[in-house]
Amino acid sequence: MAIQWSEAQIAGIVESVLRQIKNEDSQTAARKTWDASSYCGRKLIGVYEDMNEAIRAAEAGYRAVRAMSVAEREKLITVIRRMTRDEAPIMAQLGVTETGMGRVDHKTAKHILVADKTPGTEDITSAVKTGDHGLTLTEPAPFGVVGSITPSTNPSETVICNSIGMIAAGNGVVFNPHPNAIATSNYAVDLINRASREVGGPPVLVASVVKPTLETADIMYKNPSIRLLVCTGGPGVVKSVLSSGKKAIGAGAGNPPVIVDDTADVRKAGKDIIDGCTFDNNLPCIAEKEVFAFDNIADELIGAMKANGAYMLTREQADKLASIVLVDKVNPKTGIAKKIVNRDCVGRDASVLLGKIGVKAGNEVRCLICETSFDHLFVQEELMMPILPIVRVKNIDEAIELAVKAEHGNRHTAHMHSKNIDNLTRFARAVETTIFVKNAPSYAGIGFGGEGHTTFTIAGPTGEGLTSARSFTRYRRCVMADNFRII
Ligand code: NAD
Repeated sequence: MAIQWSEAQIAGIVESVLRQIKNEDSQTAARKTWDASSYCGRKLIGVYEDMNEAIRAAEAGYRAVRAMSVAEREKLITVIRRMTRDEAPIMAQLGVTETGMGRVDHKTAKHILVADKTPGTEDITSAVKTGDHGLTLTEPAPFGVVGSITPSTNPSETVICNSIGMIAAGNGVVFNPHPNAIATSNYAVDLINRASREVGGPPVLVASVVKPTLETADIMYKNPSIRLLVCTGGPGVVKSVLSSGKKAIGAGAGNPPVIVDDTADVRKAGKDIIDGCTFDNNLPCIAEKEVFAFDNIADELIGAMKANGAYMLTREQADKLASIVLVDKVNPKTGIAKKIVNRDCVGRDASVLLGKIGVKAGNEVRCLICETSFDHLFVQEELMMPILPIVRVKNIDEAIELAVKAEHGNRHTAHMHSKNIDNLTRFARAVETTIFVKNAPSYAGIGFGGEGHTTFTIAGPTGEGLTSARSFTRYRRCVMADNFRII
């Protein structure tokens, strides 16, 4: 049975972990009223001051994992799953408190999804070829120590999902978490190490650093013990790992378009789009970011969205909000300004965003929608907040042309609501995304209300797709010539 936490217990643990990260006295007020020393005021396991020290610890973890049988690894993963389910509410609250982004209920659901649907050792399968010349065996082997860079948007989810897959494949792993989500990410590192101790595994199985920076990432890139880099984040960091000279898996940015044509179940489409777009306040890279709606159903679609908690912005309100949620960043070399998202607005509640333009609203408002032109910044930029622009289109040709352009060639994720198989097929072929969801909220694409495994590292640029244990392996061949065949 899952642990039932009280609000005071969760608050106590969150405060304790945040104080530790800020290097303050860890004797929290909560500890005085609630004796749970295993959570409060304890140093997180596997978190080091120095990246090279963390890499050495991860190497020791790798050697220990290599010495384990597959059954032992699976036993360890079973405990990680259990602890993730048990501590999902803590990590969800920690993530929201530390980053200011997302929603506790949705983050809890994301952790449970990771616990339930991240593949383990069953994902690692060998292949055999027999013939006149005997038998050849191909086995997916570990790389060694993996260096993983994780985002602020799904911090602990990514650490746990990566750890399960990488350990299932027999690797060690060292993390360089996002600087804005250190406590949440390192809490997850600690959880993996507690799971390892519980099953008699190495005391430190996975490692991380107290203060991750671009410099610690660079040390990771250059350390010869790191054989594979896995990066989940925006375009800058994906580019940096791909330039490292090492084998790298890059899971980068998206800007998922949604097309709704006039054969769709429009009421369902409106609900599904709002459900997907508002999941964790639009932080998931797969979440709906802009809608292309056939003109003849657009009003009905907007009505269905409003019936599901959408607030319709006027053009003036949309433009005012755009000037707040997007800010200029000047390139010091060229002097040219570029719009970037205002970090203070990413992953915030719709009511908070509405408050920024002087409109008071409560939690009944889940999403801010508006009609815009294709060129509007809301369509072009990956906002990661519950704001959804709607562009009217005449027909499927225009819908596909504009949706493909809005996706910017990321080849990440796209969605469509339609019952016309030809239209669905045409868009899927044209947009070439790693994930294509038909007639469902975006999260069906990562196994939440849809078939298939989950991951929070969707590697479009480097082609692994929805990563799992086998993505973190290298194939090795063993040949027995002219023998071992039994027929
Ligand atoms: P981010 O790009 O700001 O940061 C990711 C990590 O990279 C952080 O640890 C950051 O400190 C580090 N970093 C940034 N630039 C770097 C550089 N040049 N060298 C080394 N490290 C660097 O990401 P974020 O804002 O936390 O996440 C949001 C972005 O990530 C969005 O673009 C989203 O689409 C994408 N994302 C993609 C996936 C996926 O599976 N494809 C999953 C989650 C997030």
